[in-house]
Amino acid sequence: MKIDILTLFPDIFAIMESYGVIGRAMKEKKLDIQVTNIRDFTYDKHRTVDAGVFGGAPGMLMKAEPVVESLESVKGDDGHIIYLSPQGKVLDQDKARDLAKLPHLVLLCGHYEGVDSRVVNHFVDEEISIGDYVLTGGELPAMVLIDSVVRWIDGVLGNEESASTDSLANGLLQHDEFTKPRDFRGYLVPEVLLSGNHKAIAEWREASALENTKKKRPDLYQKYCQENPPSKKNL
Ligand code: SAM
Repeated sequence: MKIDILTLFPDIFAIMESYGVIGRAMKEKKLDIQVTNIRDFTYDKHRTVDAGVFGGAPGMLMKAEPVVESLESVKGDDGHIIYLSPQGKVLDQDKARDLAKLPHLVLLCGHYEGVDSRVVNHFVDEEISIGDYVLTGGELPAMVLIDSVVRWIDGVLGNEESASTDSLANGLLQHDEFTKPRDFRGYLVPEVLLSGNHKAIAEWREASALENTKKKRPDLYQKYCQENPPSKKNL
């Protein structure tokens, strides 16, 4: 997969090359991340990328010309252009999995009060938010989106199972998990997990996943129960 990032703060993305799964995917050429500085598409002495808002409003907006020129410089034939924005649909696991099927993402990071709306309305394929709060820029949201998407690219996680058994992959949160030691300050690992009985372990995990979801995300639990009636799932 190719990911182009358009930003006013290119240096912040250098960390991705050495960051765990993403860094490894880049080294193994499963992921090609290119960062473009929007400021390189300005032609005045001060390399101006922002201006005041028509109609009067506090703050500055990113100007359409450098943003659109930078988009056009990387889009190619297959670029799917995403504007990271608090006005977008909130990113979830299904969206991340769908985006991982695309060959080329172009991520536009806003700053200041955001981007001239003509860019968003006419040159962007979709807006994606990482949550119902407002950040100062789209750079951290872009990294969140990349991390969530990259895990779904074939072969990136090493163990194909891990993304599909994580929380939210099947509508539930994940079951509890434990590692050594078996006794930590008197808190014991459930016996069944040490039994080697795969059927019993699978049943325990299913019950734990349901319990975790019910306790921590009652909204998800309710949805899951509606889609998987109790008679079938022994809730
Ligand atoms: N004035 C804009 C509005 O009210 O919709 C908010 C602009 S915000 C201060 C600056 C930039 O941060 C945005 O252009 C966007 O790229 C990014 N941003 C802020 N919150 C975000 C969120 N929840 N998800 C994704 N991007 C976000």
